[in-house]
Amino acid sequence: MTMLLPKFELHQPTTLADAVALAKKLGDDADFISGGTDLLPNYKCGLNTRGHVISLQHIAELKQATATTIGAGVTLTELEHNTEIPAGVREAAAHIASPLLRESGTLGGNLMLDNRCHFFNQSYFWRNSLGYCLKADGDRCHVVPRINVNGKSELNNKVCVATHSSDLAPMLIALGAEATFVGPAGERTVKLNDFYWGDGIQRFDRKPGEILAKVSLPKWALGVRSGWKKLAPRQSIDFSVVGVGIALELDGKKAKRLRIGLGAVDTTPVLFDFAKEDVRKAADSYLMVHPYEGMPEVIGKPLTDELIDSVATHVQTQAQPKLNVPMAPDYRKKMCGVLTKRLLKELRDN
Ligand SMILES: Cc1cc2nc3c(=O)[nH]c(=O)nc-3n(C[C@H](O)[C@H](O)[C@H](O)COP(=O)(O)OP(=O)(O)OC[C@H]3O[C@@H](n4cnc5c(N)ncnc54)[C@H](O)[C@@H]3O)c2cc1C
Ligand code: SF4
Repeated sequence: MTMLLPKFELHQPTTLADAVALAKKLGDDADFISGGTDLLPNYKCGLNTRGHVISLQHIAELKQATATTIGAGVTLTELEHNTEIPAGVREAAAHIASPLLRESGTLGGNLMLDNRCHFFNQSYFWRNSLGYCLKADGDRCHVVPRINVNGKSELNNKVCVATHSSDLAPMLIALGAEATFVGPAGERTVKLNDFYWGDGIQRFDRKPGEILAKVSLPKWALGVRSGWKKLAPRQSIDFSVVGVGIALELDGKKAKRLRIGLGAVDTTPVLFDFAKEDVRKAADSYLMVHPYEGMPEVIGKPLTDELIDSVATHVQTQAQPKLNVPMAPDYRKKMCGVLTKRLLKELRDN
């Protein structure tokens, strides 16, 4: 069993343009690295390693932050202590990993985090004993071993349901964030909610060689109440097994805006926009949650305890956690409702 880093060539560009040119030249045999707190543990497990790693650590353009625009290279510690940005983002950042890891970990690395699964985040030796899986080195899924294809049960060699585990993604989706990428084809900006789609391998729509440069928040995000709650075996160091981020705007006692980002229960974060305006555009998503099916009417209504109960029930009903991260799926499903209810009451009352 080896947990040593494999050999790779490290490149350290100092401008975005140089990093993009390097990525274009090296193609599929290169990965980006920011803080390295996700990539390097994965490399030590021999997970989808590459011959070249392009560090984004020395690119000053990625480290700028204002109240509404945050560079991808901003660290989690900096986010946690930035009082200009919405409270929910600070709370989510403050509950990621540990103080030491937050010093290195970045916003960009968090949003591009690899999905997690009990059968994937293991040493090469461990995975070898099971014959690997679809997400690395293998041809089958151990979580969903068979699927229904045209009425026939077949071995699942198609779909990975590894869990999306970034804490900032659901919170930022609730706050209506957009992401700007810079790549060989130039710059593009997408709604973060549209960016995430696909199964546990695909996970998002990043074009080859693209670097996440910054995340922008709409002006309204600075005027709403926002907060974050996570369930994890330990509140420190462990990844979320449920994450709930809420953006709430009240007009007197009535709900004017309510957006809930749910994390760690599917292959992507899931947005519940109670105004039903921000509906994910991805045409061919593997999304297993249907945020708008049976959604209660909330906008314009007084946010009573009863209405909060029905919002929490809706989120809980839709959530479909899989048995591939710690804690039983039925418990995690229930906690989606419990955390939604607690947080919504806190935001309403404070
Ligand atoms: C013990 C432990 C506990 C953890 N707990 C949590 C937790 O509770 N919640 C949580 O959300 N995370 C957790 N993490 C994961 C990780 O620490 C954080 O998500 C961190 O923010 C990742 O950032 P990074 O800069 O270190 O990413 P890196 O490891 O540098 O990169 C991660 C991925 O993003 C890509 N990438 C990085 N920056 C960019 C960019 N600008 N553009 C394009 N691609 C990019 C890399 O190629 C890589 O695929 C934990 C990690 C560990 C080791
Ligand atoms: S869910 Fe994905 S990572 Fe987990 S065993 Fe199946 S293919 Fe592998």
